[in-house]
Amino acid sequence: MTHDETRINSELELPTVRRTARLFGRAFRLRCPHCGKGPVLHHWLKLRVRCGACGLRLQRGEHDYFVGSVFILFTLAGLLIYAVLAVTLMATGPTVPWDLLEYGLPILMAASLLVLFPFSRLVWLAFDLMLRPVTPQELEWHRETDAEWSTVGDGSRK
Ligand SMILES: [Zn+2]
Repeated sequence: MTHDETRINSELELPTVRRTARLFGRAFRLRCPHCGKGPVLHHWLKLRVRCGACGLRLQRGEHDYFVGSVFILFTLAGLLIYAVLAVTLMATGPTVPWDLLEYGLPILMAASLLVLFPFSRLVWLAFDLMLRPVTPQELEWHRETDAEWSTVGDGSRK
């Protein structure tokens, strides 16, 4: 139980419900999905390169790592907008404030993209860690190599 979250092996594994809930729970609390600590934010719109506690590179050393997080960002923002629209329609009955919705929802959408931004990145990382747990070798590279990307040669390769 205590070392379940740090158990890392090199093979793909079917994620358990508990491990998945833990990874996503940490992401939604703006903690490192891997270790549950941090800090992970440089500022609200920028993640640190490495987790302050475990040293995990938050982009796992891969270019364009967070492209998939854009999908998560717009999904979360879209769900929020639909929820607000549905509640407003149900709460106001036949006198729907269409003008308020017409101007308010786009503003809410823009604001939610800013508010949800760091969550979307960490949720994406949690999703990746769920399917592709960090191996000890990868974590060692994350902690000890200066090169920012895994595709950059370390001097021993041409
Ligand atoms: Zn960490």
